[in-house]
Amino acid sequence: TVHEADRALVDRAVEAGQAAVRDSWGVMPVQKRAGILRRMSALVGDYADEIVEADCAETGRPRGISRSLNTDRAAYLLRTAAEEATAWYGDSYFFETPDGGKVLNYTTRHPRGVVAVFGPWNMPLLLLLMNVAPALAAGNAVIAKPSEETPVTASILARIAAEAGLPDGALSVLQGGGAESTGEFLTDHPDIAAYALIGECRTGELIMKRAASGLRPVNFELGGKNPAVICGDADMAKAVPGSIASAFANCGQVCFNTERIFVHSSRRDEFLDLFLKAISKIRIGRPEDADVSQGPLISRNHREKVIAAVERARSDGAECLTGGDIPQFGNELDRGAFYSPTVLTGLGDDSDIMSNEVFGPVCHVSTFDETDEVIARANATPYGLASAIWTENISTGHLMASRIRAGVNWINCWQTRDPRTPLAGFGRSGVGMGGSRAALEFFSQQGMVTLKH
Ligand code: NAD
Repeated sequence: TVHEADRALVDRAVEAGQAAVRDSWGVMPVQKRAGILRRMSALVGDYADEIVEADCAETGRPRGISRSLNTDRAAYLLRTAAEEATAWYGDSYFFETPDGGKVLNYTTRHPRGVVAVFGPWNMPLLLLLMNVAPALAAGNAVIAKPSEETPVTASILARIAAEAGLPDGALSVLQGGGAESTGEFLTDHPDIAAYALIGECRTGELIMKRAASGLRPVNFELGGKNPAVICGDADMAKAVPGSIASAFANCGQVCFNTERIFVHSSRRDEFLDLFLKAISKIRIGRPEDADVSQGPLISRNHREKVIAAVERARSDGAECLTGGDIPQFGNELDRGAFYSPTVLTGLGDDSDIMSNEVFGPVCHVSTFDETDEVIARANATPYGLASAIWTENISTGHLMASRIRAGVNWINCWQTRDPRTPLAGFGRSGVGMGGSRAALEFFSQQGMVTLKH
């Protein structure tokens, strides 16, 4: 049970943030700020067990996955933000004016002020930190609002920040919902200078409308309907386990998850045979058990949405090759929000299941014959988040990666990337750019000074 922040608490967080930007955090030399962020990074390691415990409890994900996401990667994001902020560069020009004056013209960096960051529930700590870390590194005061589904790891982050010596008001973690709750109170507040969201496209639209009042900038990383292309020359020893991960990791609740698989018609039967065999080995169950690779969905409400998407596909004529049901355990796990890994086939590119994000362990497999054809079909959604391309031909890989309209294209791998590289969602998948360096740019403003002598 957490406290839902009302409008009065939002006001207090904004006022405390303004004071921190004016008097402490915002005017602190960047090396000192970076030192505090490094301490926070080290403390993430000290709090690892508590974070993993909370993360497993609130998401239901298997423990091993939780540890690598929440401790190593979270600590890395804080360290990287500290390093990026201290390595920042500016421009300077020295020239002569027509009257013979000597002029030095140089740029300066400034925090935006008090910024609000909204996090999703699928990787609550990590995805909150994707924006919190660079926003803090740039000297902003941050109001972080985690998802109402997953409040606990964010509260631990607030304790870590205090212990690391972050000044009062520099980071406020406010708990609450989105619409008609804390999220909306934050977007209503006129003194919040910018908004960052990792979440659904629809939420992005709602926040953008409110941010328009006062012309506040936004940075969004949103949903996707990501394709995987298994080429005729793909190495199935890579493509099959890679597609298992890309379709079903975290119970299909990763923004980069593959939901549309296009396999070359010459390899369809071989791929499906291996893919379905590998799916039969996915062990669903209690996140604490060492051999469990898939936990439940985030909630029974979310499972209803996944079930509805699969039922719509079935009534549109899809064939269900595996799954499409709720696994039965015969014990108390039957109360959990479990759903079987599901593979559908037989529908066209304009069907509902091929057009709208499901965000669950559900993918649709179709075949293709020509490279140009599959590129066009991969691009046939309004999204553009990620793709996975499986080929042994380096030229085909590069060609597809340059023509598939997505911010992130993986060739013979999935989900690996350095957090410093830019993370752009093309089309409806995002506005602006994430990734630590790009986020640092978003959360700061450049000014310039001209000195004549
Ligand atoms: P969501 O949009 O429902 O919620 C995200 C955050 O926004 C939450 O903190 C929520 O409380 C808040 N919010 C919701 N409505 C709001 C409103 N009207 N005003 C202000 N705040 C509001 O998203 P979710 O269901 O938590 O997460 C799943 C979605 O996130 C999926 O669509 C997934 O693809 C996307 N996602 C994208 C990325 C990426 O990097 N592109 C990463 C992870 C998740």
